[in-house]
This record gives sequence, structure tokens and C-alpha cells, in this order.
Amino acid sequence: MNAWHVEICDVTLRDGEQTPGVSFTREEKMNIAQVLDEVGVEVIEAGFPITSPYEKECVTAISNLGLSARICCLARARKEDVEAAIDCGVDMVSIFIATSDLHIRTKYRKPREQVLAGALSMVEFARDHGLQVRFAAEDASRTDPGFLREVFTRGAEHGADLLSFADTVGYLTPLQVHAIVSEMVTWTEKPLCIHCHNDLGCASANTITAAEAGAFQLHTTVNGIGERAGNAALEEVLVACRLKGGVERYDLTLIKRLSQLVEAYSRIPVSKTKAVVGENAFAHESGIHIAAILEDPLTYEFVPPELVGRERRFILGKHSGRHALEHEVARLGYSLSDAQICHVLDRVKVYSEHKCTITDEILLELVKNEQKGSP
Ligand code: MN
Repeated sequence: MNAWHVEICDVTLRDGEQTPGVSFTREEKMNIAQVLDEVGVEVIEAGFPITSPYEKECVTAISNLGLSARICCLARARKEDVEAAIDCGVDMVSIFIATSDLHIRTKYRKPREQVLAGALSMVEFARDHGLQVRFAAEDASRTDPGFLREVFTRGAEHGADLLSFADTVGYLTPLQVHAIVSEMVTWTEKPLCIHCHNDLGCASANTITAAEAGAFQLHTTVNGIGERAGNAALEEVLVACRLKGGVERYDLTLIKRLSQLVEAYSRIPVSKTKAVVGENAFAHESGIHIAAILEDPLTYEFVPPELVGRERRFILGKHSGRHALEHEVARLGYSLSDAQICHVLDRVKVYSEHKCTITDEILLELVKNEQKGSP
């Protein structure tokens, strides 16, 4: 099987920053961009320069970092937006128009042909200034398919290098994504981008499905932050690219550090059970699971923790068994008799049922008490 033909455009610094309450400083944006580049992400969407002079300064600073990644920024299909992008020295501009009738009626209040014609002239304008152009359809998932096809084919004719499909409101399921992407790749030779939101909890699944159906540029954010329920999570999409798509080139060992950086800067805590980067993503408590993992980790770990720079952890609790406890006691440098292990295990279960987390300190105390108590 051939590896997926994809690239990543990480939009943490743009869509991620549009998460309610999130604002990154220039230094923070530069630090995030640096690590994204080390991971090997091909495109970094650095911001939306027309937003403010400071935002423009941030995008310019990232363009000037000399990273391997291409730097992209967002622009409405307006001359002042595209000029701001040109001023920032970016490699690529993402020029977007909303294409659904609902958005066109509400936001533009003019016929869709007129909206498209204006946008196409901006595509040409950006091209004439040497920028790579991504032509993006906002709310594409709720757009009349006939019109969407016209948007993409005419965008390609007017010099767009990439065509972007945004499921702006997280409207689609994976099967729907598969159907629409499979069709869109027949419309034009230009590479297709997929931008998914998480309103149905399907953003990463939809992005991964789009890759399988032939989409080229996958849009992600670190920790899946973004407007409302967020975007497709970089860490999830990258692990899928590696383990399902055979894409070997990304350095996944940096993912946890990147996640922690974005967690700190965004002040959006990562859920414990979040795939790949969550505290519990490689933690086990069940006695049945741990006994099997001690024989062969593949029994209950499809994603190897080392792959993403993490370590396996065993948590003691009400579901723990003897093997797990023996393993943890040995890890702390102690050894107990069978009877002592059984006794400590009973204590662990009682603690756990009182919602007490068994930390190393607590376990150590239990072990020492046990040793004291026996002759
Ligand atoms: Mn978005």
C-alpha cells in the first residue's frame, strides 16, 4: 500500500487563536511555530494579519524565522486583506469566501456569482504578487454542490494552487466526508485541502477520512483547540498518518512538548482522556489489562507510547490485581511476600473506593506499614 499523499497545515496560530478567550503573544506564537517546524509540519498558518497591527507584526515575525515550513495567513477576498498578507512576507495566502446560500444571504447580501467574481480577482491579485494561493470555501459542507464545483474549477482556472473545503460548522460525518471528497478530487487536478470542525466530535475522524479519500492538505490545531468545539487535533491526525497512512516523516516525539506549550499559552486544559496527549492516554489500571501488558504491551496498546515521546504508566486502584501491584512495588525498590501483597492490595482498593488516588507516596507508606507490621 502506498503511503497517504498528504501534507499538514497547522492552524493553531490562527483558528486555534480564535478559540474564545485565547490570545497568543508574539513570543508564544514564535515558540509554537518553531516546534511545529521541528515536528515537520509543512505549512504553518500564522494568523489573520488584517485583524490588528500586532497580529500583522506576529505574522511577519514568523515569516522571518526562516523555518522549513511554508508560512500561510488568512485573508478575506478583499484587496486590503491580501495586501496585508503581502506585507507580511508570507509564502501562501488563504483567500476565503463563504459559499453556502445561508452565509451569502446573511453576510454578503449580493448574488453568489458576484461574490465569486470578486474573489477570483483577488486570487489573481495575490498570484501576481508571487504568493501561493489557497482558495477556500467557507461553509463548503452546506454549499450547493453545483456552485461549489464552479467555485473550485473557476478558482483553479484563475490560478489558485490549492482548493480548500471547510466544514466550518462541523456538519459532516465521516461517510459524508468520504463521499464528497471522492467526488471533489475528480473536479480538478489541484490539491484539495480539508478543514474540519468538531461540533459533532468528528473533526479528526473527518480529516483522517478525507486523507483516505484523496485530500492532500490536512488542517489541524494542537490539542484540537479552535472555535466552539475546536478543530481536528494535530496529534490525532499525525498518529493516524503514521500508523494508518504509512507517513513516516514527522517527528512525533515532540508532540507532547508541543501540546504542553499550547496548553500553557492557551490556558485550555487538555482532557485526561484525550488521545495521544492526555495524561491517561498511556495509563492502565485494570488488573486484567496490566497482567497482559506485562507479557506483551500490544495487547492493550495499539499506539506505542514511545512513538509519541510518552511513557506507559500503571495506576493502582479498585480494578488493580496482584501483578500490577507487584510491578509497582518493585518499581519503588521493594519486595513483599504474597500475603503482604494481598493485604496491601486490599488497602489500595479501599483507598480507591474513597476516591483517593494511589500516588507513589501513598503506596510507599502502605508498603512500609506492611513491613513494620510483619515479623
Ligand atoms: Mn475554522
